[in-house]
Order: sequence, then structure tokens, then C-alpha cells
Amino acid sequence: MNALSFLHKSDHIAERDRKFYVFTNYAYLSCVFAHLIFLISGYLLKVHILAAFNVYSVIIFPICLVLNRINRLKLAFLFAFTELIVHGFIATLCLGFESCFFLAFIGTCTVVIYSPFISYVNKVVLLSLTLVLLIASYLVTANYGVLYTIDTLFVQSFGVLNIVVINFSIFYVLIMYFNLTNTLNEKLKKSSEIDALTQTYNRRFLNEYLEIEVKRQLGQIKYKLNLGDIHDFSIALIDIDDFKHINDTYGHLAGDTVLQEIASIIKESLFSRDLLCRYGGEEFIILFTKTRKKDAIYAAEKIRNLISEHEFTLKDTITKKVSISVGLASFDEVPNSSANEIINLADERLYRAKHNGKNMVVYH
Ligand code: GH3
Ligand code: MG
Ligand code: MG
Repeated sequence: MNALSFLHKSDHIAERDRKFYVFTNYAYLSCVFAHLIFLISGYLLKVHILAAFNVYSVIIFPICLVLNRINRLKLAFLFAFTELIVHGFIATLCLGFESCFFLAFIGTCTVVIYSPFISYVNKVVLLSLTLVLLIASYLVTANYGVLYTIDTLFVQSFGVLNIVVINFSIFYVLIMYFNLTNTLNEKLKKSSEIDALTQTYNRRFLNEYLEIEVKRQLGQIKYKLNLGDIHDFSIALIDIDDFKHINDTYGHLAGDTVLQEIASIIKESLFSRDLLCRYGGEEFIILFTKTRKKDAIYAAEKIRNLISEHEFTLKDTITKKVSISVGLASFDEVPNSSANEIINLADERLYRAKHNGKNMVVYH
């Protein structure tokens, strides 16, 4: 898989063309191998005209891969399209319909239909051309016979080979293509959930997650409870103390570094079932799932302590201590059991932490 990573990586390719780029790369690669198989079998079965034509094909498809690589997707496609339909047509005229070379038209049509830069009119033209060649090859061979008469067994062997190779190539290209689309979708999903600076979850993700967590607690979503599971969760709303001062004195980049370091200190001290989110500029929320209030207080105090003892490197040799204030609330404290309510309660407590001198956790 790694050896083939060049098939879906290239800095030159525009994002809108990337799927087509990957799709055709896999298609051209499988064409190289398919034609290599035909070349060898043409040679072994002594159908020299086909063997010779496949030498040409084996050269054309690596050229298509190179053209794709240098962002000449259209030219590569034009080469491949011409090669496939001419090859399919000539091979059918040579050996007849039973050799199944016409199957190459199916793969070609798929790429034509899918191509993002061929207009509808041109798609119709290319598909019609393919259809005309298909019908022509059938009529010519049916009425005038084949150009190259070889043993029927050999023709049928070519037929079987074509069915296997072309189907295998189509499956291979589709599987690789779907794998890539899944990976791209996952990346997209991740980037819509993760804050780029701190690599923590973003506010949108937390809001969605909190809604689900509340429903779980209210029993609106059934989920399998382990023996000893706790029916409560807590949230800690964190605001960095005097953060404006850090920005104003050491610059925004130093401020950004502090945000990143604070995020990684918090992440390291959380359980994997807990969730850290950047809630606003320099505000974070920790969702302590399945955690009673007294345990959440313990965890929040531990984090506050770790941060207040940490030496943050702000500029080259300048280090500074930074503190946080925390408002903590638990689900069973809010009467109406809504996600907003628990955040509001934590916010009120955070306000009091600031008011009472900062660098503290307020939980009642
Ligand atoms: P307090 O102790 O009362 O919280 O004081 P504070 O200075 O932290 O005040 P406040 O919370 O209002 O300040 C937030 C500051 O955070 C203001 C804004 O410029 C800064 N900030 C928000 N997002 C970012 C960011 O992504 N990077 C940097 N460097 N600063 C940010
Ligand atoms: Mg703030
Ligand atoms: Mg602040």
C-alpha cells in the first residue's frame, strides 16, 4: 500500500480533481498489468500482431501515469481512452467477439461518464463513438469473419483471460477508489470536529456530544451499562487567567503556544473516556463522562495544579507561570437536565472563581 502511495499523493493536483486523479491512476496501473498479461499470452499463443500491439499499450499507460503526475489529467485520459477503444476494436476484428476484447469498452465508458472535465455533449459523443465501434466490430466480424484465424480454443482462452483480467481490474480500481474516498471522508469529518490550533475537539462537536450524553443520562438512549457504571457526568469550564497580558507582552504566537501546551497538559491527565474541547478563544471545557462530582473536583484540582506549576517557554529563554480558573458542575445538579443549563452553571462558577482571585476551582 505504501509503495503505491504515489497514486494518491501529488501536490500539483487541485482538490476538485483529486478523486478523478486517484481513480484514473489505479485504472492506468491496472491497464499496465492487464496489457502485460496480454502481451505475454499473445506471444505464447503466437498471435504476434496482438503481442506487438500490447508492447505499445504497455508503454502508453506508464506515460499516462507520468502525465497524471504532472497534472496533465486530460491528456493522459485522451491517450488512455484512444488506446483502449482502438485496441478493443482492432483486437475484436483480429480474433472475433468470442475473444471478449470488447469488454475494454465497459471500463472506458465508466471513466468517460465519471470524468469531471468532459462536458455532457462530449460525454455523449465519446460514449456514442464507443458504441459505434462496438457495433461495427460485431457486424464486421459477423459478416466478413476475423482477420486472424487461430485455434478456437485459443480464442476462447483469450475470452476467459479478458473476462478475468478486465473484471479484476475494474474491481481493483473500485475497491482502491472506495478505500480512498473513505479515508478522505474520515479526514474531512475529523477536521470538522477538531480545533486546528490545539488539536482538541471544537465547540460544535462538544455541543452534539453533550446532547447525546444528556439523553443517555435520561435513559432516552438505551446503552449497555457495565456493572458499577456511574449515572452522572461533570463538566469543567476552564478560562486562562490574564491571558490578554501574555498576548500583549509576548505576542500572539507566544499566546498560541500557551494554548497548545495547556491543551496537551490537560489531555495527558484525562481518562480516554473524557473529552477536551476548545470552547472559545482561551476557554476549554472538559467533559468528565461517568464521573461523580467529587472525582471531577479531584481531577480538575489536579489539572489546575499541574498547569500552575508548569514553566511555559514564551520567547527563547523567557519562561513564565500561567494559571487557570475553573467552574465545575455536575449533571445531577441541574433541575431541568439540559446541556445548556449545566454549561450556564459552570459559567457562573467560573465567574466566581475569577472574582474570588483566580487560579482556583469553584464547584458550588
Ligand atoms: P481573565 O483572567 O479575566 O480571564 O483575563 P484575560 O486576560 O484572560 O481576559 P479574557 O479571558 O477576556 O481574554 C481573552 C483573550 O484571549 C483575548 C484574546 O485576544 C485572546 N485570544 C483568544 N483566542 C486566542 C488565540 O487563538 N490565540 C491567542 N494568542 N490569543 C487568543
Ligand atoms: Mg476568556
Ligand atoms: Mg482569560
